[in-house]
Formats: sequence, structure tokens, C-alpha cells
Amino acid sequence: MAKKLYIETVGCQMNLLDSELVVAALRKDGYELVDTPGKADAILFNTCSVRQHAEDKIYSALGRLKHAKRQHPHKIIGVLGCMAQKDQELIFQRAPFVDLVVGPGQLHQVPQLLRELQVARAPRLEVSLDRAAGSRSAVEQSFESYDPLREAQMRPSPYQAYVRIMIGCDKFCTYCIVPKVRGPEQSRPPHEIEAEVRRLADEGCREVTLLGQTVNSYHFTVGERVWRLADLLGRLSDVAGIDRLKFVTNYPKDMTDDLLAAVRDLPKCSHYLHVPAQSGSNTVLKRMKRGYSVEEYREMLSRIRGTIPGAAVTSDFIVGFCGETDDDFALTMELVRESRFKNSFIFKYSPRPGTKGDELFADDVPEEVKRRRNNELLALQNEISFEDQQALVGRTFEVLVEGLSKMAARGAGHFHTEGASDAVQSTSGESESPATTDMAIKPPAANAGDLMQLTGRTMCDRITVFDAPRRLIGQLVEVSIFDATPFTLLGSVVTREAGPTVYQLAMPVR
Ligand code: SF4
Repeated sequence: MAKKLYIETVGCQMNLLDSELVVAALRKDGYELVDTPGKADAILFNTCSVRQHAEDKIYSALGRLKHAKRQHPHKIIGVLGCMAQKDQELIFQRAPFVDLVVGPGQLHQVPQLLRELQVARAPRLEVSLDRAAGSRSAVEQSFESYDPLREAQMRPSPYQAYVRIMIGCDKFCTYCIVPKVRGPEQSRPPHEIEAEVRRLADEGCREVTLLGQTVNSYHFTVGERVWRLADLLGRLSDVAGIDRLKFVTNYPKDMTDDLLAAVRDLPKCSHYLHVPAQSGSNTVLKRMKRGYSVEEYREMLSRIRGTIPGAAVTSDFIVGFCGETDDDFALTMELVRESRFKNSFIFKYSPRPGTKGDELFADDVPEEVKRRRNNELLALQNEISFEDQQALVGRTFEVLVEGLSKMAARGAGHFHTEGASDAVQSTSGESESPATTDMAIKPPAANAGDLMQLTGRTMCDRITVFDAPRRLIGQLVEVSIFDATPFTLLGSVVTREAGPTVYQLAMPVR
């Protein structure tokens, strides 16, 4: 009988991809996915360490399993990913019934570890080296875990896939745990990336999102040649069957002119750029060790807008970072006001043990001040997002149809927004949620017949909802926009009437 697997994923796109790879490997070992821990033989949590809240969520989920484990001791409970790398033994101390703790660099070992645990129960801890525990190459090796296995069921849709082009980070922003839990920055060879993208295209995938903590820092040397992200995009543009290429998350200092020109000139490149600013105050940016000033960020933004007119730019902001004053926050508001981001992911600072920020600075902004600043910034961004989206009403966009809208999937046929439920962290793990809740609800289409409410995205990553036949899922369609909320475009599919066919009968020439 098939063994049952339950997996819960918290965090960014990197974690979603990791879960996809773990599930693919476990399917080969005879596991099938179930939707509740109660039905599972193995319960895995793929975790995030970027915020305290994400960790608390996992520890509470583990706490809820204590009783179940006592009653069903054969169940295997595992903690994977960033929290596993960060907390290691602490997880066994806080939840002694956990069988398995596996860092992001050891996920390929999960099938073997589960097999071993079925034979002999003894807690297993598999993590990478600490960054100071060996030479750079030894630490790098301990984090390497590229795995070409894919599992379509775990993807956002069968037509879209994430492809990791690099792992780790060397930037060491003072608030961020990523360099510790994901290890040193390492780029993947271009031929391997291309091979994976070709495989995905063969499986019917049409849109690929390249992932990296600082994806635009990608560089890989082959002989004399250094491959940068712009070169990689050119190479992947030649893959037949792939219609769209996106990449997240960008580091402001590495937004080079050649990359912007590639995005402008390669027709498959999405004009969507996520470039976290984090703060509008130079004092705070310096304390965060972001490596750029707000003037440099503005200059980068104007290069983006100058090179790619109409590009959709999104950002991340942390409010209430150590020592952030009202004046600092006012500068952040000013930056958001003038930058006209399509959207911003905003979160309140939460200190992360093991980071320089936690070691060097006091978390001295009171929680209520953080909350107030968070709300103010959200309100401002919402206003801007709404105006930005309203300006698109009346235009027509090509949309890749991803599937049923969430409302349709729940069995209702109403127009309803998708943006609010679309909260994922940026790859840098820097984000909490897209600004706001999007509340617009419109009546269902009259006489919808076999039409369903579908959802998809424009080339600029704008969520679009429209009524259309289900068979269009996975297709590129033209959608004319008739209304917009801050995070969702509402539209109708443009149908082109071909009209009656006229046959010209050729008279035989005598
Ligand atoms: S915030 Fe981004 S760039 Fe900075 S250390 Fe974290 S992952 Fe790296």
C-alpha cells in the first residue's frame, strides 16, 4: 500500500520549489500526498526563518502533533528547511517527538532518511556547516543540493515553474538570516539551467521564474566567459515552448544596464522587476548594511523606467528597524509616494538571533509604533496601486491563463480578487504580504453558460480575472480590462469573430 505524505510549506518561492523537489523524490519512493496530517505516515514541515512569526507558526503546529505522535508512534515527523538549519538541536529540545531535522542543503537525503527511520527510530539531524565552520569551498559543498527532479502537482500551475539559478547570499544585510541558513552565494551552470528549462517546456510549462536570493547577482564562469543574468535570459529565450521568463528577487546594486536592455529587448522577458528598497532613509539603510543609498536606489529606478517604459516595479520595506525615527519613516513614505511601485511587500522588523542586527542594535521601536507605520505605509501603497491599476482600464493585455480563480475553485462564480490571498515572500525572504486586502466583489457574469471565472497574469505580473471557458487554461489569451482594484484587473476575453468563410470557385481555364 502507498505510504502517505503530508507536507506543509511556509515562506518564499525557494521553499515552494524545495517542497516540489522533496515531493518528487518521495513519490519515486512510493509516497502519495494527503491533505491532512491525520492521514499521513510522514508529516513534513518545510520552514522559514525570516520572521519570528513564521517560526512560531511551525512550533505551534508541532505542539499540536504531540498527542497524535503519542497515539501513533509510527508516524514520522520532520522539520525541513531554514528553521532546521538555524535551530538544529533546539527543535528536538522543544519538540522531542520530532524524528527528523534537515537543512535546505540536505533535502536530497530525505527519502533515504525516511527509509532508515522506518527501520530504526533515532532522531536524525542533517544540516550544513555553519558559515564559520570551515573553508568557503567546504561550506559551499555542504549547501549544494541541486536536484533536477520535478513534481508538477506542487507547482503554482502546470504551466508555470520556478527554476533555481543560484543559492545562498553573501550580502549579509544586518537584519537577514538568509546568508546563515542558505549558505554562501553559488550560481548554477547555465547548461544545467537550460536543460531543466527544456525539460519543463517538454512537460507543457510556458512560464519560468528564475529564482535567486539576489537573482541579478548571477554569474558563472565557463572557460574565459562569465555568464551574467542577461546572458542567461538570452540563452533561455531560445527554448521553444517557453513564452515567458521572469526572475526574482533583485538586489538594487546589481541592476545593470545590460540586464535592463535584455529585459527590454528579449520578447519573452516579463517587464516586471521586484527590487526591494527596504527603507527611504540613508541612516537606516546604512544600519541595515544594504550597500546603497536612497539616491542610488532612485537613480536605479529612473534607469529602469528610462530603459523599460511601463515596467511594473515592486518593492519590499521593513518598518520599525532598530533606531528608525519618525523622520526616517517620513523619508520611506516619501520614497514610496514618488516611486509609484506597482505593489510593496511591507513588514514590521522582527529581530533574528544569529544576525548582526540582533547582535549590534536594540530592537527599540515599540510594537505599536511599528504597527502604525506599517498601516500608514500600506495605506499609501494601496492608494498608489489603485491609481496604477485604474490607469489600465480600457487597455488589452495578453494573459497566461493559470486556472480557476479562487472563488471559482470554491464553487462560486463571482468576481473576486486574488491579490489578497497571493501573499508570498519575495525570494530574499524579505516580505510579509503584499500591501493590503483587496475587497472588490462584482456580480457573476449573466448567462455564463460553460464559462468559468478564470485567473491569469499579464506580462507585467498583474493578476487578471475574467470569465472564459475552462479549455483556455494554460493558453495565452487577450483580455480587455473593464475595471481594476488595487491588486486585480477585471476583464473579458477578446474574441475575434472570423465571420463566414467565402469560397472562391476557380473556373477551369479553357
Ligand atoms: S536581505 Fe536579501 S540581499 Fe540582504 S542578506 Fe538577506 S537575502 Fe541577502
